[in-house]
Order: sequence, then C-alpha cells, then structure tokens
Amino acid sequence: MIISIASGKGGTGKTTVATNLALSLDTHVQLLDCDVEEPNAHLFIRPTWEETKTITTPVPDVDMNKCTLCGKCGEICQFKAIIVIGETVLPFPELCHSCGGCMEVCPEGAITETGRELGIIKSGHKNGLEFVSGRLRVGEAMSPPMIKKVRSFTNPDQLTIIDAPPGTSCPVITAMKGADFILLVTEPTPFGLYDLKLAVGAVNILGIPCGLVINRSDIGDEQVKAYADVEGIPILMEIPFDRKIAEIYSRGELLVETMPEWKGKFLNLYHRIVDIVEQTGAI
Ligand code: SF4
Ligand code: SF4
Repeated sequence: MIISIASGKGGTGKTTVATNLALSLDTHVQLLDCDVEEPNAHLFIRPTWEETKTITTPVPDVDMNKCTLCGKCGEICQFKAIIVIGETVLPFPELCHSCGGCMEVCPEGAITETGRELGIIKSGHKNGLEFVSGRLRVGEAMSPPMIKKVRSFTNPDQLTIIDAPPGTSCPVITAMKGADFILLVTEPTPFGLYDLKLAVGAVNILGIPCGLVINRSDIGDEQVKAYADVEGIPILMEIPFDRKIAEIYSRGELLVETMPEWKGKFLNLYHRIVDIVEQTGAI
C-alpha cells in the first residue's frame, strides 16, 4: 500500500505527520521524502545513511559531423529544447523533458544521449524503517523527473509512505499519482481551507480516496470541519496547538519518541486509513 501525505501549502505539518506515522509502524515500512526542493524528513528521522547516488536524466547530444540540418529534431520537440539555427543544431538541456523524440526521428543517427544532473538521492535505515530522500540540484527547474526517481525506490512488499511536496501543481501530482490513499494535512484557518480545497480538487481528479489531519486544530475556526463534512472527507486525526509539541518539532525530535502516547494515536490513524482503503477496494 502507498500512502501519500500532501498539503495544499507548506508549513502545515505534513512532514511531522509523515515521519511520525512512519516511525509508529515498527517494520516493513519505507518513507520516501519526495519534497525534493526542500527535503527535511531526514532532520527528524536521522537515519544511518548507506548510499548516495547522483541522478541524471537523458538529454540530446548532437554530432554535427553526421547532422544534415534536416530540422526534424526541432520539429518534433514540443518544448523548444532543440533547434536548428543556421549551420548548427542547439540543444537546451535545461528545457529538455527527456522524451527521446529527437533521437528517435533523427534520420542520420546524429543524436545520442548525454546526462543532465537532476540531483542526489540518499538512502538509509532507522531501525526497521527504510528511508529514501531526494534533493533537487540547485538551479534545476523540473522536479517531477526527480520525484519519479525517488518513487522508483518503492518496494511493493512494504508499506510506502510518501512525503509529497506542498502545493497542487505537477510535483505534488507526481507524488500522489498511483497512491492508494492521500492523507491531506491542513490547518483550520481561511488560508488552510483555501489551499485544502485546491488539494481536494487535485485528489478528486486522480480518483484516490483521501482523509484529513487537522494540525493546530484548536486555533482558527470551524470552516475546515464544515467543508470536510459537506465533501464527505473523513477527519482522521487532530493535532492540537501545544507549546510542548512545537518545542519537540523545533528540536528536530519526533512526537512518537518524545511523547509515547502519540504512537498509539498514529497507529490508530494508520488503521483508519487501512479500513478506508479496504472499504473502497483500492487494494
Ligand atoms: S528529448 Fe524530447 S524534450 Fe528533449 S530535446 Fe529531444 S524532443 Fe525535446
Ligand atoms: S534530426 Fe538529426 S540530422 Fe536532422 S537536424 Fe536534427 S540532428 Fe541534424
């Protein structure tokens, strides 16, 4: 089963939920930090790192000795990532989506693959938890290919928890697509509600069952709960606004380790998710 943990905006406590949920479940769990532009789950998990890989994506390299300037590569590229100018062919690796179209259509076999660095992926363990974290290279504009690489570490024999990037655009869709359940983390404020509605819209398009965690649940107003009620979205957990919890977070510690009573609450959250997934027949 794959549980993707998302939020319409940053700072709602998405990583808090992902890390504590993962650490509550003793074995056969992997946590994939797909928030590749700003990965921070490792600060709380503090894994023993075992491997670091540099990740690249294929982009075209043109051999001008073979090129006849026919222009077919430029015609097929939907992203203007390769163009014929005068007597030369110019690839723009930063714009390339690695579709391979230009290599396929080149009649002279003049285009070969070279690599553009996307970033690094680190993997390790903490107790029975397998942890994988991707970090996008500074200056790299496209995070979905990197997120896909992190997700390629998914082990179908284990429960996979994904810490998705915030927002509702391509990166978060890449981190949610194919999941069995989406856990949306929000806060009960007008801003939280606005972004939650956008996130629910994206989840509905994907047709994946979802539930809510309301963080800092005793601030703000009741509008998030009213919205969840109207939309039929179950509220699976509430985390109160508590100075002790904020201090634990600021020290980079985990709730389930510092306040063990929370382990039972996160286990309960997991079992409620399993019930919903089984009822909806998603697995
Ligand atoms: S691989 Fe695809 S996106 Fe990249 S330059 Fe070639 S056609 Fe364009
Ligand atoms: S398709 Fe091949 S031969 Fe034609 S312009 Fe592009 S690189 Fe040159």
